[in-house]
Amino acid sequence: MTIAAFLTARLAEALAQDVHTLPEATHTDIDRRTRDELHDCVRCGSRAQVAFLLGPSPEAGLPAPRWVDLCSQCSTAVREWAHQERGRQEGDQP
Ligand SMILES: [Zn+2]
Repeated sequence: MTIAAFLTARLAEALAQDVHTLPEATHTDIDRRTRDELHDCVRCGSRAQVAFLLGPSPEAGLPAPRWVDLCSQCSTAVREWAHQERGRQEGDQP
């Protein structure tokens, strides 16, 4: 499993979401997604202010990229989680 596939699977876990329920990215313009469009945070349902692109990662069953829309509070939580995951990947350092 590649790191991207690993992270995709683990991110879905962290979000308590099936990645296949995330909206498919019909465009990949993050500014447009966050500035011009209205979306709900996938974790708590508040107005999303941040967007991440997840995938594409065919290994994780995600042939096309998907949006992860997050409010600022949840994006902080997910960033912290990603930071910890990266540390774990680079070899069990505290
Ligand atoms: Zn949220």
